[in-house]
Amino acid sequence: MAKVIAVANQKGGVAKTTTVINLGASLALLGQKVLVVDIDPQGNATSGLGISPFKLRRTIYQVLLGEATAEDLVLPCPSVPGLGLLPSNIELAGAEVELVGVPERETLLRRALTPLLPKYQFVLIDCPPSLGVLTLNALVAAHGVLIPIQCEYYALEGLGHLLNTIQLVKRRLNPGLKLEGILLTMFDGRTNLSIQVAEEVKKHFRGQVYRTVIPRNVRLGEAPSHGKPAAIYDPRSRGAEVYFELAREVMSRAQS
Ligand code: ADP
Ligand code: MG
Repeated sequence: MAKVIAVANQKGGVAKTTTVINLGASLALLGQKVLVVDIDPQGNATSGLGISPFKLRRTIYQVLLGEATAEDLVLPCPSVPGLGLLPSNIELAGAEVELVGVPERETLLRRALTPLLPKYQFVLIDCPPSLGVLTLNALVAAHGVLIPIQCEYYALEGLGHLLNTIQLVKRRLNPGLKLEGILLTMFDGRTNLSIQVAEEVKKHFRGQVYRTVIPRNVRLGEAPSHGKPAAIYDPRSRGAEVYFELAREVMSRAQS
């Protein structure tokens, strides 16, 4: 039965998508069956895994509306065996408004994914940079939340709001939801600021921060424009290595 992890933070540019793509690919390359669920209308996880969002006739949008099953729409990632993708594109932008009148609209994704769970070991959901109905669907469908935090000024801003939302979802809709872990991203060991932010986060969230810290790495920034995870685009890059490290850590946490 798959472990479902929502990668969420309502701040944009903190490496949610980069983490979903590269953690997903690394888990798959380590032999796990992995499904990436793109629930961001920007479709960055979709394009970053080599599928052009614009050409898709049906996406997760039709799945949420009940017009298609998730199983029918899963595409194989062209560059990574064992990695499936439930794609998204800009059409999903309408969902925030269109789902307003739909009954039990927070549980649409959970219900859509349930039949797929026996086929995978990990399901990673790439959330949009907001706390709207799409992120809510991801939190309701998930067993755990992975929160990427960029090692920059204002890193902790808005985090209280996200943690409150997680508590609310836990109380009302998904009692089993856990904080899976905090991931420090875009760490730059040459700057005091990066070091300070990392220390502050570790102090604040004792025991909940992944040991693996993701450094700034040019290859991680380049790989998506080639439609590939770093592990395929440049397997020897530090970016590729470090996401393998994270994958091993995530696997060992899932077993314990
Ligand atoms: P989010 O999904 O949270 O908005 P992204 O994953 O799209 O964030 O990352 C924001 C930008 O930073 C992207 O251009 C991405 O390629 C780049 N990026 C993410 N992580 C790294 C990293 N470790 N090193 C260098 N660039 C990164
Ligand atoms: Mg993103």
